[in-house]
Amino acid sequence: MQDLIKELQELETLAKYLEPSTVQMKAWTDQVNSYGLNFLEGLEEGGAYKQYDGQKLDFIDFDEEGSSMEQILNKIKETVDKFGINPASGGHLGYIPGGGLYSSALGDYLAAVSNRYAGIFYANPGAVKMENDLIRWTAEVMGYPSNAGGNLSSGGSIANLIAVTTARDRLGIEGSKVEKAVVYMTEQVHHCVHKALRIAGLGKTVWRSIPMDADFRMDVLALETALEKDKAAGLIPFMIFASAGTTDVGAVDPLDKIADLSEQYGSWFHVDGAYGAAFNLVDSMRPLFKGIERSDSLVIDPHKGLFLSYGLGIVLVRDVKAMAESHYYNANYMQDAKADSAMHWSPADLSPELTKHYRGMRMWLSFKLFGLRAFRASIEEKHLLTKYFWNRMKEEGFELGPDPALSVTVYRFVPPKGDTNVFNQNLMKAVLTDGFNFISSTTIERNIWLRLAVLSFRTHKDRIDHLIHTLVQAKDELLSKQ
Ligand SMILES: *Cc1c(COP(=O)(O)O)cnc(C)c1O
Repeated sequence: MQDLIKELQELETLAKYLEPSTVQMKAWTDQVNSYGLNFLEGLEEGGAYKQYDGQKLDFIDFDEEGSSMEQILNKIKETVDKFGINPASGGHLGYIPGGGLYSSALGDYLAAVSNRYAGIFYANPGAVKMENDLIRWTAEVMGYPSNAGGNLSSGGSIANLIAVTTARDRLGIEGSKVEKAVVYMTEQVHHCVHKALRIAGLGKTVWRSIPMDADFRMDVLALETALEKDKAAGLIPFMIFASAGTTDVGAVDPLDKIADLSEQYGSWFHVDGAYGAAFNLVDSMRPLFKGIERSDSLVIDPHKGLFLSYGLGIVLVRDVKAMAESHYYNANYMQDAKADSAMHWSPADLSPELTKHYRGMRMWLSFKLFGLRAFRASIEEKHLLTKYFWNRMKEEGFELGPDPALSVTVYRFVPPKGDTNVFNQNLMKAVLTDGFNFISSTTIERNIWLRLAVLSFRTHKDRIDHLIHTLVQAKDELLSKQ
Protein backbone atom coordinates (compact mmCIF):
# COMPACT_ATOMS: atom_id res chain seq x y z
CA MET A 1 0.00 0.00 0.00
CA GLN A 2 2.81 2.44 0.91
CA ASP A 3 4.54 1.69 -2.38
CA LEU A 4 1.35 2.28 -4.26
CA ILE A 5 0.83 5.65 -2.61
CA LYS A 6 4.40 6.66 -3.35
CA GLU A 7 4.04 5.65 -6.96
CA LEU A 8 0.81 7.62 -7.24
CA GLN A 9 2.53 10.71 -5.87
CA GLU A 10 5.28 10.45 -8.47
CA LEU A 11 2.84 9.90 -11.28
CA GLU A 12 0.67 12.77 -10.13
CA THR A 13 3.61 15.16 -10.33
CA LEU A 14 4.28 14.14 -13.91
CA ALA A 15 0.61 13.93 -14.91
CA LYS A 16 0.01 17.44 -13.64
CA TYR A 17 2.02 18.76 -16.56
CA LEU A 18 -1.35 18.43 -18.32
CA GLU A 19 -2.87 20.97 -15.96
CA PRO A 20 -0.96 24.21 -16.49
CA SER A 21 -1.55 27.21 -14.27
CA THR A 22 -3.96 29.94 -15.26
CA VAL A 23 -0.97 32.23 -15.89
CA GLN A 24 0.57 29.66 -18.20
CA MET A 25 -2.70 29.08 -20.04
CA LYS A 26 -3.20 32.79 -20.54
CA ALA A 27 0.29 33.10 -22.00
CA TRP A 28 -0.42 30.28 -24.43
CA THR A 29 -3.82 31.67 -25.35
CA ASP A 30 -2.21 35.06 -26.07
CA GLN A 31 0.48 33.48 -28.23
CA VAL A 32 -1.99 31.39 -30.21
CA ASN A 33 -4.31 34.33 -30.57
CA SER A 34 -1.53 36.62 -31.83
CA TYR A 35 -0.56 33.99 -34.34
CA GLY A 36 -4.16 33.71 -35.50
CA LEU A 37 -4.68 37.44 -35.79
CA ASN A 38 -1.38 37.85 -37.67
CA PHE A 39 -2.47 35.16 -40.05
CA LEU A 40 -5.77 36.91 -40.64
CA GLU A 41 -4.11 40.30 -41.09
CA GLY A 42 -1.94 38.84 -43.82
CA LEU A 43 -4.90 37.67 -45.85
CA GLU A 44 -5.67 40.96 -47.56
CA GLU A 45 -2.23 41.24 -49.17
CA GLY A 46 -1.38 37.56 -49.25
CA GLY A 47 -1.95 34.94 -51.90
CA ALA A 48 -4.48 32.17 -52.13
CA TYR A 49 -2.14 29.50 -53.44
CA LYS A 50 1.45 28.44 -53.03
CA GLN A 51 2.81 25.38 -54.73
CA TYR A 52 4.41 22.78 -52.44
CA ASP A 53 8.16 22.83 -53.05
CA GLY A 54 8.83 19.34 -51.73
CA GLN A 55 10.16 20.59 -48.38
CA LYS A 56 10.30 17.85 -45.75
CA LEU A 57 7.13 17.68 -43.65
CA ASP A 58 7.65 15.72 -40.44
CA PHE A 59 5.23 15.75 -37.56
CA ILE A 60 6.38 12.86 -35.39
CA ASP A 61 9.14 14.92 -33.84
CA PHE A 62 7.77 14.46 -30.32
CA ASP A 63 9.96 14.28 -27.24
CA GLU A 64 9.37 13.55 -23.55
CA GLU A 65 9.55 17.13 -22.35
CA GLY A 66 7.45 19.03 -24.87
CA SER A 67 8.35 22.23 -26.75
CA SER A 68 7.62 25.90 -26.24
CA MET A 69 4.51 27.37 -27.82
CA GLU A 70 6.75 29.70 -29.81
CA GLN A 71 8.61 26.78 -31.39
CA ILE A 72 5.36 25.04 -32.13
CA LEU A 73 3.75 28.06 -33.80
CA ASN A 74 6.88 28.61 -35.88
CA LYS A 75 6.68 25.05 -37.03
CA ILE A 76 3.03 25.42 -38.02
CA LYS A 77 3.87 28.59 -39.92
CA GLU A 78 6.63 26.89 -41.90
CA THR A 79 4.67 23.75 -42.73
CA VAL A 80 0.89 23.74 -42.50
CA ASP A 81 0.30 27.42 -43.14
CA LYS A 82 2.75 27.65 -46.02
CA PHE A 83 1.80 25.47 -48.96
CA GLY A 84 -1.26 24.58 -50.95
CA ILE A 85 -4.55 26.44 -51.09
CA ASN A 86 -5.26 29.04 -48.44
CA PRO A 87 -8.99 28.51 -47.80
CA ALA A 88 -9.18 31.56 -45.55
CA SER A 89 -8.12 33.86 -48.41
CA GLY A 90 -10.71 35.89 -50.27
CA GLY A 91 -8.74 34.89 -53.36
CA HIS A 92 -9.85 31.27 -53.01
CA LEU A 93 -12.10 31.12 -56.04
CA GLY A 94 -11.73 27.45 -56.97
CA TYR A 95 -13.53 24.23 -55.99
CA ILE A 96 -15.95 25.38 -53.28
CA PRO A 97 -14.15 28.09 -51.31
CA GLY A 98 -13.67 27.80 -47.58
CA GLY A 99 -13.47 30.97 -45.55
CA GLY A 100 -13.90 30.17 -41.89
CA LEU A 101 -15.48 32.90 -39.77
CA TYR A 102 -13.31 33.90 -36.83
CA SER A 103 -16.37 33.35 -34.65
CA SER A 104 -16.21 29.66 -35.65
CA ALA A 105 -12.85 29.42 -33.96
CA LEU A 106 -14.20 31.12 -30.86
CA GLY A 107 -17.18 28.78 -30.79
CA ASP A 108 -14.89 25.79 -31.13
CA TYR A 109 -12.73 27.18 -28.36
CA LEU A 110 -15.68 27.41 -26.01
CA ALA A 111 -16.97 23.99 -27.03
CA ALA A 112 -13.58 22.39 -26.52
CA VAL A 113 -12.66 24.18 -23.29
CA SER A 114 -15.82 23.11 -21.51
CA ASN A 115 -15.95 19.90 -23.54
CA ARG A 116 -19.71 19.74 -23.19
CA TYR A 117 -21.13 16.44 -24.30
CA ALA A 118 -23.49 17.18 -27.17
CA GLY A 119 -24.33 13.59 -28.05
CA ILE A 120 -27.16 12.97 -25.62
CA PHE A 121 -29.76 15.30 -24.09
CA TYR A 122 -29.35 13.81 -20.60
CA ALA A 123 -25.62 14.59 -20.61
CA ASN A 124 -26.05 18.19 -21.61
CA PRO A 125 -29.57 19.48 -22.21
CA GLY A 126 -28.31 22.94 -23.22
CA ALA A 127 -25.80 21.78 -25.80
CA VAL A 128 -28.19 19.28 -27.40
CA LYS A 129 -31.11 21.73 -27.39
CA MET A 130 -28.86 24.32 -29.06
CA GLU A 131 -28.06 21.84 -31.83
CA ASN A 132 -31.72 20.83 -32.12
CA ASP A 133 -32.73 24.48 -32.38
CA LEU A 134 -30.18 25.09 -35.13
CA ILE A 135 -31.71 22.15 -36.97
CA ARG A 136 -35.18 23.59 -36.33
CA TRP A 137 -34.10 26.99 -37.64
CA THR A 138 -32.63 25.43 -40.78
CA ALA A 139 -35.77 23.34 -41.26
CA GLU A 140 -37.91 26.47 -41.06
CA VAL A 141 -35.76 28.32 -43.57
CA MET A 142 -36.12 25.39 -45.96
CA GLY A 143 -39.87 25.10 -45.37
CA TYR A 144 -39.78 21.70 -43.68
CA PRO A 145 -42.64 20.64 -41.36
CA SER A 146 -42.38 20.78 -37.58
CA ASN A 147 -41.88 17.03 -37.20
CA ALA A 148 -38.72 17.21 -39.31
CA GLY A 149 -35.43 16.38 -37.67
CA GLY A 150 -31.82 16.31 -38.54
CA ASN A 151 -28.24 16.16 -37.49
CA LEU A 152 -25.22 18.41 -37.46
CA SER A 153 -22.59 16.26 -39.11
CA SER A 154 -18.95 16.84 -39.93
CA GLY A 155 -19.82 17.76 -43.51
CA GLY A 156 -21.95 17.18 -46.56
CA SER A 157 -20.62 13.73 -47.40
CA ILE A 158 -21.62 12.28 -44.04
CA ALA A 159 -24.91 14.21 -44.16
CA ASN A 160 -25.69 12.61 -47.55
CA LEU A 161 -24.75 9.20 -46.15
CA ILE A 162 -27.16 9.61 -43.24
CA ALA A 163 -29.94 10.50 -45.68
CA VAL A 164 -29.20 7.54 -47.96
CA THR A 165 -29.15 5.13 -45.01
CA THR A 166 -32.45 6.54 -43.74
CA ALA A 167 -34.09 6.24 -47.17
CA ARG A 168 -32.81 2.68 -47.57
CA ASP A 169 -34.41 1.56 -44.32
CA ARG A 170 -37.63 3.50 -44.70
CA LEU A 171 -38.23 1.98 -48.14
CA GLY A 172 -36.98 -1.43 -47.00
CA ILE A 173 -34.30 -1.80 -49.65
CA GLU A 174 -32.52 -4.94 -48.50
CA GLY A 175 -31.80 -8.47 -49.65
CA SER A 176 -33.17 -9.27 -53.07
CA LYS A 177 -34.70 -5.79 -53.34
CA VAL A 178 -31.31 -4.12 -53.64
CA GLU A 179 -30.71 -5.15 -57.23
CA LYS A 180 -34.25 -4.14 -58.18
CA ALA A 181 -34.04 -0.69 -56.64
CA VAL A 182 -33.30 2.20 -58.97
CA VAL A 183 -31.63 5.51 -58.08
CA TYR A 184 -31.92 8.54 -60.35
CA MET A 185 -29.38 11.34 -60.70
CA THR A 186 -27.64 13.44 -63.32
CA GLU A 187 -23.99 13.28 -64.28
CA GLN A 188 -23.51 16.43 -62.26
CA VAL A 189 -24.45 14.82 -58.95
CA HIS A 190 -21.68 15.13 -56.35
CA HIS A 191 -19.45 12.05 -56.19
CA CYS A 192 -20.12 11.68 -52.46
CA VAL A 193 -23.58 10.41 -53.41
CA HIS A 194 -21.98 7.48 -55.27
CA LYS A 195 -19.77 6.90 -52.24
CA ALA A 196 -22.72 7.03 -49.86
CA LEU A 197 -24.65 4.48 -51.92
CA ARG A 198 -21.72 2.07 -51.87
CA ILE A 199 -21.03 2.55 -48.16
CA ALA A 200 -24.72 1.99 -47.38
CA GLY A 201 -24.62 -1.36 -49.18
CA LEU A 202 -26.51 0.01 -52.17
CA GLY A 203 -23.68 -0.22 -54.69
CA LYS A 204 -25.62 -2.86 -56.61
CA THR A 205 -28.77 -0.80 -57.04
CA VAL A 206 -29.51 0.32 -60.60
CA TRP A 207 -28.01 3.78 -61.22
CA ARG A 208 -29.88 5.79 -63.84
CA SER A 209 -28.14 8.79 -65.26
CA ILE A 210 -30.87 11.25 -66.25
CA PRO A 211 -30.04 13.65 -69.11
CA MET A 212 -29.82 17.39 -68.46
CA ASP A 213 -31.03 20.49 -70.25
CA ALA A 214 -28.69 23.12 -71.69
CA ASP A 215 -28.28 24.64 -68.21
CA PHE A 216 -27.19 21.32 -66.67
CA ARG A 217 -30.47 20.77 -64.82
CA MET A 218 -32.18 17.42 -64.63
CA ASP A 219 -34.53 16.90 -67.58
CA VAL A 220 -37.80 16.06 -65.83
CA LEU A 221 -39.40 14.54 -68.91
CA ALA A 222 -36.51 12.11 -69.17
CA LEU A 223 -36.87 11.40 -65.46
CA GLU A 224 -40.57 10.65 -65.87
CA THR A 225 -39.87 8.33 -68.78
CA ALA A 226 -37.26 6.46 -66.75
CA LEU A 227 -39.53 6.14 -63.71
CA GLU A 228 -42.39 4.85 -65.82
CA LYS A 229 -40.22 2.35 -67.64
CA ASP A 230 -38.68 1.06 -64.44
CA LYS A 231 -42.04 0.68 -62.76
CA ALA A 232 -43.43 -1.19 -65.76
CA ALA A 233 -40.41 -3.49 -65.69
CA GLY A 234 -41.11 -4.41 -62.06
CA LEU A 235 -38.21 -2.42 -60.64
CA ILE A 236 -38.45 -0.17 -57.56
CA PRO A 237 -38.11 3.58 -58.25
CA PHE A 238 -36.25 3.98 -54.97
CA MET A 239 -34.52 7.33 -54.69
CA ILE A 240 -34.19 10.54 -56.72
CA PHE A 241 -31.11 12.67 -56.08
CA ALA A 242 -31.62 16.28 -57.05
CA SER A 243 -28.95 18.94 -56.71
CA ALA A 244 -29.64 22.39 -55.33
CA GLY A 245 -26.42 23.85 -56.65
CA THR A 246 -24.16 21.47 -58.53
CA THR A 247 -20.47 21.75 -57.79
CA ASP A 248 -19.46 22.20 -61.43
CA VAL A 249 -21.81 24.96 -62.54
CA GLY A 250 -24.12 25.72 -59.61
CA ALA A 251 -27.22 24.38 -61.36
CA VAL A 252 -30.40 23.90 -59.34
CA ASP A 253 -32.55 21.03 -60.59
CA PRO A 254 -36.30 21.72 -61.11
CA LEU A 255 -37.15 20.65 -57.57
CA ASP A 256 -40.89 21.22 -57.65
CA LYS A 257 -41.43 19.04 -60.70
CA ILE A 258 -39.15 16.37 -59.31
CA ALA A 259 -41.23 16.43 -56.11
CA ASP A 260 -44.39 15.78 -58.19
CA LEU A 261 -42.80 12.77 -59.86
CA SER A 262 -41.35 11.48 -56.64
CA GLU A 263 -44.79 11.55 -55.00
CA GLN A 264 -46.37 9.89 -58.00
CA TYR A 265 -43.88 7.01 -58.04
CA GLY A 266 -43.43 6.64 -54.28
CA SER A 267 -39.71 7.41 -54.41
CA TRP A 268 -37.60 9.04 -51.75
CA PHE A 269 -36.78 12.57 -52.90
CA HIS A 270 -33.37 13.73 -51.72
CA VAL A 271 -31.88 17.16 -52.35
CA ASP A 272 -28.15 17.71 -52.12
CA GLY A 273 -27.86 21.40 -51.33
CA ALA A 274 -24.47 21.11 -49.63
CA TYR A 275 -23.17 24.00 -51.67
CA GLY A 276 -26.29 25.81 -52.83
CA ALA A 277 -29.10 25.55 -50.29
CA ALA A 278 -27.76 28.50 -48.28
CA PHE A 279 -28.81 30.80 -51.15
CA ASN A 280 -32.38 29.99 -50.14
CA LEU A 281 -31.82 32.53 -47.33
CA VAL A 282 -31.86 35.34 -49.89
CA ASP A 283 -35.45 36.42 -50.55
CA SER A 284 -34.93 37.27 -54.21
CA MET A 285 -33.41 33.83 -54.86
CA ARG A 286 -36.06 31.75 -53.13
CA PRO A 287 -38.14 31.02 -56.25
CA LEU A 288 -35.19 29.03 -57.60
CA PHE A 289 -35.58 26.58 -54.73
CA LYS A 290 -39.32 26.06 -54.98
CA GLY A 291 -40.07 22.45 -54.15
CA ILE A 292 -37.12 22.01 -51.80
CA GLU A 293 -39.66 22.00 -48.96
CA ARG A 294 -41.26 18.90 -50.47
CA SER A 295 -38.14 16.76 -50.36
CA ASP A 296 -37.81 13.82 -47.96
CA SER A 297 -34.27 14.72 -47.02
CA LEU A 298 -31.95 17.62 -47.62
CA VAL A 299 -28.29 18.43 -47.10
CA ILE A 300 -26.82 21.86 -46.50
CA ASP A 301 -23.21 22.65 -45.55
CA PRO A 302 -22.74 25.58 -43.17
CA HIS A 303 -18.98 25.22 -43.75
CA LYS A 304 -19.68 26.35 -47.30
CA GLY A 305 -22.60 28.74 -47.74
CA LEU A 306 -22.71 29.94 -44.14
CA PHE A 307 -18.95 30.61 -44.07
CA LEU A 308 -18.13 28.55 -40.98
CA SER A 309 -14.82 26.75 -40.63
CA TYR A 310 -14.56 23.24 -42.02
CA GLY A 311 -16.39 20.57 -40.10
CA LEU A 312 -20.10 21.32 -40.27
CA GLY A 313 -22.78 19.86 -42.50
CA ILE A 314 -26.50 19.49 -41.84
CA VAL A 315 -28.87 16.76 -42.89
CA LEU A 316 -32.60 17.34 -42.54
CA VAL A 317 -35.13 14.54 -42.79
CA ARG A 318 -38.82 15.29 -43.21
CA ASP A 319 -39.86 12.50 -40.86
CA VAL A 320 -37.41 12.41 -37.97
CA LYS A 321 -38.71 8.98 -36.96
CA ALA A 322 -37.26 7.53 -40.13
CA MET A 323 -33.82 8.79 -39.08
CA ALA A 324 -34.24 7.26 -35.65
CA GLU A 325 -35.29 3.90 -37.13
CA SER A 326 -31.96 3.72 -38.94
CA HIS A 327 -29.74 5.00 -36.16
CA TYR A 328 -31.28 3.76 -32.90
CA TYR A 329 -29.22 1.83 -30.44
CA ASN A 330 -29.68 -0.20 -27.32
CA ALA A 331 -27.12 -0.45 -24.59
CA ASN A 332 -27.74 -1.26 -20.97
CA TYR A 333 -25.07 1.12 -19.79
CA MET A 334 -26.98 3.92 -21.50
CA GLN A 335 -30.24 3.28 -19.67
CA ASP A 336 -30.18 6.51 -17.64
CA ALA A 337 -29.70 8.53 -20.80
CA LYS A 338 -32.40 6.78 -22.82
CA ALA A 339 -35.22 7.82 -20.49
CA ASP A 340 -35.05 11.37 -21.84
CA SER A 341 -35.09 10.50 -25.50
CA ALA A 342 -38.87 10.23 -25.61
CA MET A 343 -39.01 14.00 -25.17
CA HIS A 344 -35.86 15.24 -26.85
CA TRP A 345 -34.04 13.81 -29.79
CA SER A 346 -30.33 13.42 -29.28
CA PRO A 347 -27.66 13.35 -31.99
CA ALA A 348 -26.81 9.82 -30.88
CA ASP A 349 -30.34 8.70 -31.84
CA LEU A 350 -30.09 10.15 -35.34
CA SER A 351 -26.55 9.62 -36.57
CA PRO A 352 -23.77 7.04 -36.47
CA GLU A 353 -21.94 9.03 -33.79
CA LEU A 354 -22.02 8.73 -30.02
CA THR A 355 -19.33 11.00 -28.62
CA LYS A 356 -19.01 13.95 -30.94
CA HIS A 357 -17.61 17.42 -31.36
CA TYR A 358 -20.04 20.00 -30.04
CA ARG A 359 -20.48 21.54 -33.47
CA GLY A 360 -23.50 23.63 -32.72
CA MET A 361 -21.64 26.23 -30.68
CA ARG A 362 -19.65 27.68 -33.61
CA MET A 363 -22.80 28.18 -35.70
CA TRP A 364 -24.96 29.51 -32.89
CA LEU A 365 -22.25 31.88 -31.66
CA SER A 366 -21.74 33.23 -35.18
CA PHE A 367 -25.45 33.86 -35.74
CA LYS A 368 -25.80 35.52 -32.35
CA LEU A 369 -22.74 37.73 -32.78
CA PHE A 370 -23.30 38.97 -36.30
CA GLY A 371 -27.06 38.68 -36.63
CA LEU A 372 -28.63 37.17 -39.73
CA ARG A 373 -28.63 40.26 -41.96
CA ALA A 374 -24.87 40.14 -42.55
CA PHE A 375 -25.10 36.51 -43.65
CA ARG A 376 -27.89 37.24 -46.10
CA ALA A 377 -26.04 40.22 -47.52
CA SER A 378 -22.82 38.30 -47.93
CA ILE A 379 -24.53 35.36 -49.65
CA GLU A 380 -26.32 37.69 -52.07
CA GLU A 381 -23.08 39.61 -52.70
CA LYS A 382 -21.40 36.33 -53.76
CA HIS A 383 -24.15 35.69 -56.28
CA LEU A 384 -23.91 39.19 -57.73
CA LEU A 385 -20.09 39.07 -57.86
CA THR A 386 -20.40 35.96 -59.98
CA LYS A 387 -22.85 37.70 -62.30
CA TYR A 388 -20.46 40.66 -62.50
CA PHE A 389 -17.57 38.33 -63.45
CA TRP A 390 -19.76 36.57 -66.01
CA ASN A 391 -20.70 39.86 -67.70
CA ARG A 392 -17.16 41.27 -67.60
CA MET A 393 -15.61 38.14 -69.07
CA LYS A 394 -18.17 38.16 -71.84
CA GLU A 395 -17.09 41.71 -72.64
CA GLU A 396 -13.50 40.47 -72.73
CA GLY A 397 -14.39 37.94 -75.43
CA PHE A 398 -14.43 34.79 -73.32
CA GLU A 399 -16.97 32.01 -73.81
CA LEU A 400 -19.22 31.64 -70.77
CA GLY A 401 -21.30 28.79 -69.42
CA PRO A 402 -24.94 29.28 -68.35
CA ASP A 403 -25.91 32.53 -66.65
CA PRO A 404 -24.86 31.78 -63.05
CA ALA A 405 -27.86 30.68 -60.97
CA LEU A 406 -25.83 30.85 -57.75
CA SER A 407 -22.12 31.69 -57.40
CA VAL A 408 -20.34 29.27 -59.71
CA THR A 409 -19.66 29.81 -63.37
CA VAL A 410 -17.52 28.23 -66.04
CA TYR A 411 -15.65 30.09 -68.76
CA ARG A 412 -12.93 29.54 -71.33
CA PHE A 413 -11.19 31.38 -74.10
CA VAL A 414 -11.38 29.97 -77.61
CA PRO A 415 -8.25 31.14 -79.45
CA PRO A 416 -8.37 31.66 -83.23
CA LYS A 417 -5.89 28.83 -83.66
CA GLY A 418 -4.27 26.11 -81.60
CA ASP A 419 -5.69 23.69 -79.03
CA THR A 420 -8.40 25.34 -76.90
CA ASN A 421 -7.90 22.96 -73.96
CA VAL A 422 -4.17 23.63 -73.83
CA PHE A 423 -4.76 27.36 -74.11
CA ASN A 424 -7.09 27.32 -71.10
CA GLN A 425 -4.75 25.11 -69.09
CA ASN A 426 -2.08 27.73 -69.69
CA LEU A 427 -4.45 30.46 -68.57
CA MET A 428 -5.04 28.59 -65.33
CA LYS A 429 -1.29 28.07 -64.88
CA ALA A 430 -0.77 31.82 -65.19
CA VAL A 431 -3.30 32.50 -62.42
CA LEU A 432 -1.78 29.88 -60.10
CA THR A 433 1.78 31.05 -60.76
CA ASP A 434 0.71 34.54 -59.80
CA GLY A 435 -0.88 32.92 -56.73
CA PHE A 436 -2.86 35.92 -55.51
CA ASN A 437 -6.02 34.10 -56.52
CA PHE A 438 -6.75 30.41 -56.75
CA ILE A 439 -9.00 28.98 -59.47
CA SER A 440 -9.79 25.46 -60.62
CA SER A 441 -10.96 23.83 -63.81
CA THR A 442 -13.42 21.18 -64.86
CA THR A 443 -14.11 19.07 -67.91
CA ILE A 444 -17.53 19.18 -69.53
CA GLU A 445 -18.07 16.99 -72.56
CA ARG A 446 -14.30 16.68 -73.09
CA ASN A 447 -13.76 20.43 -73.05
CA ILE A 448 -11.70 22.03 -70.34
CA TRP A 449 -13.45 24.96 -68.71
CA LEU A 450 -12.08 27.27 -66.09
CA ARG A 451 -14.28 27.59 -63.10
CA LEU A 452 -15.04 30.47 -60.80
CA ALA A 453 -16.65 29.73 -57.46
CA VAL A 454 -17.31 32.67 -55.17
CA LEU A 455 -18.24 31.65 -51.65
CA SER A 456 -15.69 33.12 -49.29
CA PHE A 457 -17.14 35.87 -47.12
CA ARG A 458 -13.80 37.64 -47.68
CA THR A 459 -14.24 37.87 -51.45
CA HIS A 460 -15.35 41.28 -52.68
CA LYS A 461 -15.24 43.16 -55.97
CA ASP A 462 -11.52 44.05 -55.77
CA ARG A 463 -10.51 40.37 -55.80
CA ILE A 464 -12.73 39.63 -58.76
CA ASP A 465 -11.31 42.62 -60.64
CA HIS A 466 -7.80 41.39 -59.88
CA LEU A 467 -8.63 37.95 -61.26
CA ILE A 468 -10.18 39.40 -64.41
CA HIS A 469 -7.07 41.50 -64.90
CA THR A 470 -4.75 38.50 -64.49
CA LEU A 471 -6.80 36.39 -66.90
CA VAL A 472 -7.05 39.06 -69.59
CA GLN A 473 -3.35 39.83 -69.36
CA ALA A 474 -2.44 36.14 -69.58
CA LYS A 475 -4.79 35.67 -72.53
CA ASP A 476 -3.22 38.59 -74.41
CA GLU A 477 0.25 37.27 -73.73
CA LEU A 478 -0.62 33.75 -74.91
CA LEU A 479 -2.24 35.18 -78.05
CA SER A 480 0.76 37.34 -78.83
CA LYS A 481 2.96 34.25 -78.77
CA GLN A 482 0.78 32.38 -81.27
C1 LIG B 1 -19.12 19.91 -51.05
C2 LIG B 1 -20.25 19.13 -51.55
C3 LIG B 1 -20.54 17.86 -51.03
C4 LIG B 1 -19.65 17.19 -50.03
O1 LIG B 1 -19.67 17.85 -48.81
P1 LIG B 1 -18.41 17.81 -47.83
O2 LIG B 1 -18.80 18.79 -46.79
O3 LIG B 1 -17.22 18.23 -48.64
O4 LIG B 1 -18.27 16.43 -47.33
C5 LIG B 1 -21.67 17.23 -51.48
N1 LIG B 1 -22.46 17.78 -52.42
C6 LIG B 1 -22.21 18.98 -52.95
C7 LIG B 1 -23.13 19.54 -53.99
C8 LIG B 1 -21.09 19.70 -52.54
O5 LIG B 1 -20.83 20.90 -53.07
